Amino acid sequence: MRFHKSSGRVFVRQSWLNDMVLCPERARLGATLPQMRSGSDATLMGTAVHHAIEQVLECDGTMALEEMITAGVDKFHYLQVMEQWKETNIDPTKYEVYIASMCEAWLNEIAPTLEFGGRTEYQFAYPLGIEVGEWAVWCEGTMDYVDPKGVVYDWKTASRSYNAKEKQSTAVQPTVYAGAVNAMGWSDFPVEFRYGIMIRQEKPKSQIVRIERNESHMRWLRHAVRPAIGMALHVGTDKPWIMNDTSALCSERWCSYWSVCKGAFLTDADLSVPN
Ligand code: SF4
Repeated sequence: MRFHKSSGRVFVRQSWLNDMVLCPERARLGATLPQMRSGSDATLMGTAVHHAIEQVLECDGTMALEEMITAGVDKFHYLQVMEQWKETNIDPTKYEVYIASMCEAWLNEIAPTLEFGGRTEYQFAYPLGIEVGEWAVWCEGTMDYVDPKGVVYDWKTASRSYNAKEKQSTAVQPTVYAGAVNAMGWSDFPVEFRYGIMIRQEKPKSQIVRIERNESHMRWLRHAVRPAIGMALHVGTDKPWIMNDTSALCSERWCSYWSVCKGAFLTDADLSVPN
């Protein structure tokens, strides 16, 4: 979330809205301490595979698998040096194997289902149609791919398959992105959004999850965003917001703000089961 004073607009991203649901304090710290945001080996692998996919899309799918894998692995090595990142529970000897497997899953299983000739890494911003206080609320973000018919794709590298029913009923990202393609005039409602998922494992495995979004989902988004912005304005971003430490992501490994939040109060010993 960022306030743009001269235009009187507040911009929100789907990732910020997801953080608000997961832990409001994490959303506040993300907005106020962006320099603390750090990745992990998992996110680096995801960025590397996204980069490789982008290369293939730019040549309308004519790139060979070996070339795609080289693009992904080279990008991963570059990010390892250039970015701040943490190891998770992924075996480091498998990094390149997983990147190759995810590239293969995308090229052999997902790419043949695509219509090429669309827009890659498209940055958008559009008015959501609500005002909170003096602020007009806008959504912004970057779409991985929009095909020529206005079908939106988002690539995911994941440890396991997605639950389509859960995504259809709760995911914010498809709604925010559907609003964007509708605002651009690329698709009427209902808008189709597809997750192209590559599973992080040695044997190539992919999944395509189709989501649909209509005007009712947009109305719900407006209803849900309004109090989130209202809270930010009312409490201010200089004081802590509500903390949820019950999610699996509340840990030193998965929360970039651990050291200035829960980790500032509790040590590993405090968090361990007593003997
Ligand atoms: S450490 Fe836990 S409570 Fe604090 S911001 Fe991160 S997820 Fe939220």
